[in-house]
Amino acid sequence: MASNAENMKRKGNSISIDDGRKKLRIIEQQRKYLPIATVEKELVEKVQNNQTLIIVGETGSGKTTQLPQYLFNAGFCRDGNVIGITQPRHVAAVTVAKRVAEECGVQLGQSVGYSIRFDDMTSSSTRIKYMTDGLLLREALLDPFLSKYSVIIVDEAHERTIHTDVLLGLLKKVQKVRSQSPIEYQKVGTVKTNDGPLSGKENGAQSASFLKLCQGVNFLPLKLIIMSASLDPRMFSEYFDGASYVYVRGRQFPVNIYYTQHAESDYVDAAMITIFQIYLEEGPGDILVFLTGQEEIEAVEGLIQEQIRQLPAGNQKLVAVPIYSSLPSNQQMKVFIPVPDGFRKVILATNIAETSVTIPGIKYVIDPGLVKARTYNQQTGIESLVVVPTSKAQAVQRSGRAGREGPGKCFRIYPENEFAKLADSTVPEIKRCNLSNVVLQLKALGVDDIVGFDFMENPSRISINKSLEELLLLGALTDDYKLSDPIGHQMARLPLDPMYGKALIVASQFNCLEEMLITVAMLSVESIFYRPREKLEESRMAMKHFSSPEGDHITLINVYRSSDEFLEKIRISSSKNKILKNLRKWCEENFINSRSLRHARDIHSQIRRHVEQMGLCIASCGDDMLSFRRCLAASFFLNAALRQPEGTYRALANGQVVQIHPFSVLFQAKPVCIIFNELVRTNNNYIRNVTRIDPLWLPELAPQYYATQG
Ligand code: ADP
Ligand code: MG
Repeated sequence: MASNAENMKRKGNSISIDDGRKKLRIIEQQRKYLPIATVEKELVEKVQNNQTLIIVGETGSGKTTQLPQYLFNAGFCRDGNVIGITQPRHVAAVTVAKRVAEECGVQLGQSVGYSIRFDDMTSSSTRIKYMTDGLLLREALLDPFLSKYSVIIVDEAHERTIHTDVLLGLLKKVQKVRSQSPIEYQKVGTVKTNDGPLSGKENGAQSASFLKLCQGVNFLPLKLIIMSASLDPRMFSEYFDGASYVYVRGRQFPVNIYYTQHAESDYVDAAMITIFQIYLEEGPGDILVFLTGQEEIEAVEGLIQEQIRQLPAGNQKLVAVPIYSSLPSNQQMKVFIPVPDGFRKVILATNIAETSVTIPGIKYVIDPGLVKARTYNQQTGIESLVVVPTSKAQAVQRSGRAGREGPGKCFRIYPENEFAKLADSTVPEIKRCNLSNVVLQLKALGVDDIVGFDFMENPSRISINKSLEELLLLGALTDDYKLSDPIGHQMARLPLDPMYGKALIVASQFNCLEEMLITVAMLSVESIFYRPREKLEESRMAMKHFSSPEGDHITLINVYRSSDEFLEKIRISSSKNKILKNLRKWCEENFINSRSLRHARDIHSQIRRHVEQMGLCIASCGDDMLSFRRCLAASFFLNAALRQPEGTYRALANGQVVQIHPFSVLFQAKPVCIIFNELVRTNNNYIRNVTRIDPLWLPELAPQYYATQG
């Protein structure tokens, strides 16, 4: 079987792109070869016979790409109904939708499409729709019964993202409502008597109120499928009142696991050495490296390219391909493009490649055993991104990626005794993140009693209360914890973190919404400045060109506006491709991350459209940056900090000691009072995106918080 798969891959490599029909035939063969193909009939029957079904299957067996197609073919989209598939990650939704459109031979956005925040590739003819779990939650705001869906597949449920957990609770409710069919009565004549349980009057009143309740409801019952790689189906089954589950067996070849002798002090360095050891000493096969985020991936990408240049000319056949969630979607697909014969790929991925995205051809996995995760301190209420060890389950998943098409090898960059110390599985996100966003969403969905909501696992009372308190302070809730009008409703409509949503609303009152739109867009991407390790000084100099003594927010605005000016200049005479190329060059010269900048520009136009629709006043404060900073203070007052004698800062909300990140423009200046947007925990508590404010503004602009704090 291994050789079969290899052959098939080779065949796949050699086809020319133009030869559409041949390509479709090969895809057809690949589809038939997937493990799930042997149980198509059985699966369809199970879905037909069960309202809720749990499917557990090995990664790469074909669940995400195939099942929706099977259901489509079995008639689940009759009458224009849609099959919705949710993914915890943007990248998976996009790449899988593209693949399925290709498999079906249709144009993306027609019968097969995807929809993620800031990017909608669907149309009225879309029947198989991939989307993020968060997006489906937003859809429920507009259509509480999700009436266009006949089937909803919650994929990658084992990830237990906060959105998946909330969605499961919501879907359970929706499914109950939709399974209640209205009773149809036939009029056979007029009954004169008024008594008896079905007297005309009573019956009429009942059905009227019932119909009113269900108005707009699609009475087609909702099929729910919970799908996942490595999960214990019993827990999901219990939650869904004893729902049935099935296993889809995968094909897994043996994978040899290697550990380092000792703990490595620099895992990036160790990963680099391992990549080139494999490249130079091991047999053919692509390499997958798990890294923690965009910055690290880009750093490694640069290092690999540099190292390749130092190899003898005939031996430079290694291609580095990154994949992470904020990578523009056209570039995400590059991981799937086969490299020319004799070359090999080294894929640099975040844990997106752990289960969500299956890339063919991988034989070697390098796993430093780390993942970037959101954590939340219940006492301080502060959420931060931290690099933490993976769980055992994650480590096993990662190594499994090497054994899909033949025997493989996995190099864990930690000693063997460390493995035993890992937690068995990951703690669900709902237990380790700030809940403000979902509390706001639930309130907007009419769920007022958050504590009483039927969560699969309850978040702690402390975090629920913290979030309620935060939303109250932001003005999203009234004193009796109801969604406020209009602020709460407006905040819920914006596809942004509540604090960012509030910032836009505040900015419209401060007449600086133009500036705040740019700020929020720039803060929504990972890193605008490109700082390769080997050119830190040069990149620092380049940043000076944009930096504002007032702080990082205005610095980001300067970058954005400079890119505007540059584009303005070249737009008149250039084609679209040329513009992109020139922009990339401009970014390179200025040590700006062109992927991030383009992503931010994209987000900017999307949120601009949102605020336009909401009718907010879009004005610019021009050079009056004082009023913009006051607006920042009024928006982010919960993240204010005061300098302490020794040069560190104390966060006013919770007394936590934090430090300005060395990459901030205010790292040296250390003003007395600041607001910040992000807390990163490494060895220190670093705050990023910092702006200088006047401490007196706080009681003036946020009296609801600071007047009572004294
Ligand atoms: P599962 O959901 O069970 O993990 P998938 O349905 O995602 O499996 O993947 C099935 C197969 O489709 C895998 O062999 C994978 O490599 C392939 N595949 C998925 N997306 C793409 C793509 N964009 N290009 C090429 N192959 C793909
Ligand atoms: Mg999948």
